[in-house]
Amino acid sequence: MAEPQRIVIVGTGLAGASAAGELRATGFTGQVTIIGADSHRPYELPALSKGILLGDAEEPDWVHDEDFYQKNDVELLLSTSVREIALGDRVVVDGSGTRYPFDRLLLATGSRPRVLPVPGADLAGLHTLRSLDDSRALLAALRSGGRVVVAGGGWIGCEVAAAARKHGCEVTVVERLPLPLHPVLGDTVAAVFRDLHEQNGVVWRLGVGVAEFTGEQGKITGVRLDGGELLPADVVVVAIGAVPRVELAHAAGLELSDSVPGGGVDTDAGLRTSAPDVYAAGDIAAHFHPRYGRRLRVEHWANAKDPGTHVAGNLLGAAEPYTASPYFFSDQYDLGMEVRGLANPFRDQLVVRGDLAAREFIAFWLRDGAVHAAMNVNMWDDGDALQAMVDKQVVVEPRQLEQADLAGMVG
Ligand SMILES: Cc1cc2nc3c(=O)[nH]c(=O)nc-3n(C[C@H](O)[C@H](O)[C@H](O)COP(=O)(O)OP(=O)(O)OC[C@H]3O[C@@H](n4cnc5c(N)ncnc54)[C@H](O)[C@@H]3O)c2cc1C
Repeated sequence: MAEPQRIVIVGTGLAGASAAGELRATGFTGQVTIIGADSHRPYELPALSKGILLGDAEEPDWVHDEDFYQKNDVELLLSTSVREIALGDRVVVDGSGTRYPFDRLLLATGSRPRVLPVPGADLAGLHTLRSLDDSRALLAALRSGGRVVVAGGGWIGCEVAAAARKHGCEVTVVERLPLPLHPVLGDTVAAVFRDLHEQNGVVWRLGVGVAEFTGEQGKITGVRLDGGELLPADVVVVAIGAVPRVELAHAAGLELSDSVPGGGVDTDAGLRTSAPDVYAAGDIAAHFHPRYGRRLRVEHWANAKDPGTHVAGNLLGAAEPYTASPYFFSDQYDLGMEVRGLANPFRDQLVVRGDLAAREFIAFWLRDGAVHAAMNVNMWDDGDALQAMVDKQVVVEPRQLEQADLAGMVG
């Protein structure tokens, strides 16, 4: 097919909006339409559980300036839900029946928070966190103070706990696993996060699940745990992960993944789905990663921004594989960290450089002697070296990692 004339993007998150920006940056002059259910122009999500929730920022990081869309002739349709992709007709259809023809389509519909299927899950005072409106509503609740229970000790649960402590709330975090962030960090490093929160006044309930939410007159009053303990609560935040929003793709008959947790829309290395001229990027994409030789679905900021930008070239006819290593960051209290690469902390060898107790360290995860992932905590000088070590899967002597010049190891 010749260069497309009409590109439609479903989803106004970071992946979709990055693709729209890059299409114009590369000089594409055809029609670009980006359609999203959110009422705000595209924004990034990380500040929703940090700057905004802490009360330090009024606004999120917008993906583009307000006048970008008009200036660049990008048609931005907000508060608009797409209900169908008619692949045969090459149109998407919104909730009111309006049809948007496309030559190429990008699906960037992101994720939604996982729900806890227990009694009381519809009570007022129960929050999830995915959108700017969610974040502002939760900030207002935290500012009212009181007793906060967070269900889930993953990244978002931990960041919410830190924000709630800043607002002076009493905070309990309930986590079914023995430690927060256990699947991604393993025993030793996850314990650092348990201690960090404990030292900042968070009470943990570890190794126990939520049995039900209790309430009075439609409002939440508590969280009952498996085993019977009742935690009184004014505000409850459910942060037990997210599920990819694949319904449109599924209904359109695109192949979905059964090989990555939570599923996702199967794409090849170039982010092409199983349907001609339809691509997927960001949280929904179960992308075949050439370096790992398997599909990955990554719910990280960089995995929305970078593939969103990358896919623009492929929408215009290239077939370049997306090969970047996963990258993630988080901030909690005075701890800032970045993780590069993909570890299996229960199989890989952990090597620590620095001081775990002082929360100034770099954790390396080695497989067969090669660096598969690295996490720097409150140490910021070696980011480029760590990136190169992970990208090249540099083979090292573990003892070297504890002392030697890291930049020197990657040449
Ligand atoms: C609170 C929070 C904090 C985070 N913090 C960090 C962090 O510190 N570091 C990090 O690396 N990552 C972080 N992440 C993860 C990261 O930001 C996300 O993985 C990434 O932004 C996902 O972008 P996306 O464009 O794929 O999806 P989304 O941002 O979810 O965008 C998808 C959009 O599609 C829209 N949509 C869905 N279905 C339809 C439809 N049928 N019709 C129209 N529109 C539709 C949705 O309304 C949404 O606006 C955080 C995530 C959250 C929720």
